[in-house]
Amino acid sequence: MLKVENLHVSVEGKEILKGINLEIGAGEVHAIMGPNGSGKSTLSYVLSGREGYEITEGRVLFNGKDLFEMSVEERAWAGVFLAFQYPVEVPGVSNIYFLKAALNGVRKFNGLPELDAMDFISMVKGKMKELDMDEKFLYRAVNEGFSGGEKKRNEILQMSVLEPSLCLLDETDSGLDIDALQVVAKGVNRLRNPERSFVLVTHYQRLLDYIKPDYVHVLAHGQVVKSGGPELALELEKQGYAWVDEKLAS
Ligand code: ADP
Ligand code: MG
Ligand code: MG
Repeated sequence: MLKVENLHVSVEGKEILKGINLEIGAGEVHAIMGPNGSGKSTLSYVLSGREGYEITEGRVLFNGKDLFEMSVEERAWAGVFLAFQYPVEVPGVSNIYFLKAALNGVRKFNGLPELDAMDFISMVKGKMKELDMDEKFLYRAVNEGFSGGEKKRNEILQMSVLEPSLCLLDETDSGLDIDALQVVAKGVNRLRNPERSFVLVTHYQRLLDYIKPDYVHVLAHGQVVKSGGPELALELEKQGYAWVDEKLAS
């Protein structure tokens, strides 16, 4: 589904990603871990189409198509959900309006008619019930004044409404509280299916206590230095990232 081939990325002339290779198949959950400054967020940002990142070598294919030739909208319409492609806050735009526009964009791209307002609302309310979300969320401006946990819950709501085939989530270094982590985990676990893949970018092992990945990759100094199964995350927790550096040095 997603193939990252020898990806080199520079920011302001400094090379940050130094030849990343990754292959994500349908239905798989991959965790990308690594110490601070290893390039995890850079990888998320460049996949999401954020500006300021120069791709100097390599490519990324999504279902055989060059991801970097697709606009940010096209990525979303084609089924890529990148938490970063959505604005953090949209003052004055209600969540329900935003979700409806996003979903109808996806439907239009895929040759489907727009959902009418009634069908849309009942569908969204059903999803919110599953996520234990208060319907009040629908009428608040997107993410405005949301707590960390509410933003994450909203991200999961966007994902369950848009039904993407590839979801990329970055846990962020600031860390989420346990409630927010469990919201993410519950949402991801519920959305897991044989056609849908996930890439979880996380500094800490704790998210992986709740979401069992199929593969774990360790990023260090802009390269994937180790890949393995879920046991790799446990080993990292025990040994810390210094262990990765020792392995590299030896
Ligand atoms: P991580 O998410 O793994 O902590 P980042 O991708 O945020 O790592 O950062 C990787 C490296 O790239 C760090 O050394 C960081 O200082 C550098 N970097 C990231 N963004 C920029 C930027 N906009 N300008 C200059 N250096 C950057
Ligand atoms: Mg960082
Ligand atoms: Mg980061």
